[in-house]
Amino acid sequence: MKKISFLVFMLVFIFAFPTIGQAAGSGTSIYLNGEALNLPKNGQVQNVKGNVMIPIRVVMEELGFDVDWEKGTRTVTIKQADTTIKLIVNQKSATVNGKKAALSIAPMLKQDTTLVPLRFVSEQMGLTVGWDNATKTVYLITPDQGGGGGEGSNTSSGSSNSEDGSINPNPVPSQNLASVTGISFDANRLIVAVDQNVKPNVFKLSEPDRIVIDIPDSRFDDSFSSNHSLDAFQNGFMDINGYPDVTKIRYSQFSDHPSTIRIVMDLTGARNYSLLNADDGYVIIDLNVDQSYPSRGNGKPLVVIDAGHGGSDPGAISVRKRREKDFNLAIAKKVENLLKHETQLDYILTRSTDVFVKLQDRAKLANDMNADLFVSLHANSGSATASGVETYYTRGESLPFAKTMHKYLVESSGLPDRKVRTKNLHVTRETTMPAVLLEFGYLSNSSDEALLYTEKFQNSVAQGVVDGIKDYLGFK
Ligand SMILES: [Zn+2]
Repeated sequence: MKKISFLVFMLVFIFAFPTIGQAAGSGTSIYLNGEALNLPKNGQVQNVKGNVMIPIRVVMEELGFDVDWEKGTRTVTIKQADTTIKLIVNQKSATVNGKKAALSIAPMLKQDTTLVPLRFVSEQMGLTVGWDNATKTVYLITPDQGGGGGEGSNTSSGSSNSEDGSINPNPVPSQNLASVTGISFDANRLIVAVDQNVKPNVFKLSEPDRIVIDIPDSRFDDSFSSNHSLDAFQNGFMDINGYPDVTKIRYSQFSDHPSTIRIVMDLTGARNYSLLNADDGYVIIDLNVDQSYPSRGNGKPLVVIDAGHGGSDPGAISVRKRREKDFNLAIAKKVENLLKHETQLDYILTRSTDVFVKLQDRAKLANDMNADLFVSLHANSGSATASGVETYYTRGESLPFAKTMHKYLVESSGLPDRKVRTKNLHVTRETTMPAVLLEFGYLSNSSDEALLYTEKFQNSVAQGVVDGIKDYLGFK
């Protein structure tokens, strides 16, 4: 397996938006490929029933389309390349290249100018339209910006239920969309779990300070809502406590066209970040880059907690038909809750929900993060009489860690000591730091199994895991 020498941190798309672009009347800002549009100061941009309406002068001067106004028939003709749109004042029906198209709001006359619905016009012209309801900001992205980068990023875009979203002429096919399976915030890092490689666009915004992560061609996995709040409009948030930089993380299906998930980190002030996207199923936005938090140089060891199996891989099935993956995750969450209070070390979970994660990605995450310790959590299966706990390691450098962890595993479980063992296991072999795999008992054994699913046992062994880690690191 290819070893990544260290985190390839990329500082991308860090820029500050200019503060122009406010329309007095609507409080709405419009950005075209990251540049604020010069909107008329007299408040002609209007927000009418959730539809951003713009004067035809803005369409011409700022968006660069040809505009004709025919006074007698009160018809606006907007042209660009091979697209011609005809709109008539007070009519909710338009034509695009001669074909009828419905509008959710009619063009209107206001103060001697004609206002047209921005989303309709933009989308018909092939632009991607995004809408951030919190800041009343429209993001327009031209197709030639796709895949490029540069300021404004390439695919932002907006929630079709917020603005005028009723017209969606070219829905993106749902195949090949990446599924976002989890969002978590640990050790001052945002971790987004996705089921395939993605090319996120990350940028900073101010007033208020926030970091925006757009994941193009993505959607929320069906399992996402079982572990995260998500409303009927595909919006949700997490309050963040215990970290001074971040107050909240918001996420939404920001656009259906193209299907884009937007995650926003609300900050307590301007913060730098680094993006780690090693195409391994995790997108990580690391805030540990400011001087007060030197990345991985903050002196704090990083421990990876790896709940075995998950998603389509249930692991072993117990004598009472319970799944190993659920046990493993329960322990991981309990360990996480304990580690939250340990200020001397950082930790990261390979999964915090019931999702499938490849073995390769678990090891790669640990290696890419330059983690100091790796602990994989499992329960065993074998004969009906086998009972007890085992600690596995593969590489010799992991043996001292394995011995320490095993001591606490035996004590905290109260189960028979089946010893420290060596075995050629992927996650303990491919990781580049001391790594162990703990087997907390036998799901094939009726009495082990009954014990393993009790809160008391789980709390005890979770504490044992934390105590073992602390002991090995010299924090005990
Ligand atoms: Zn297992």
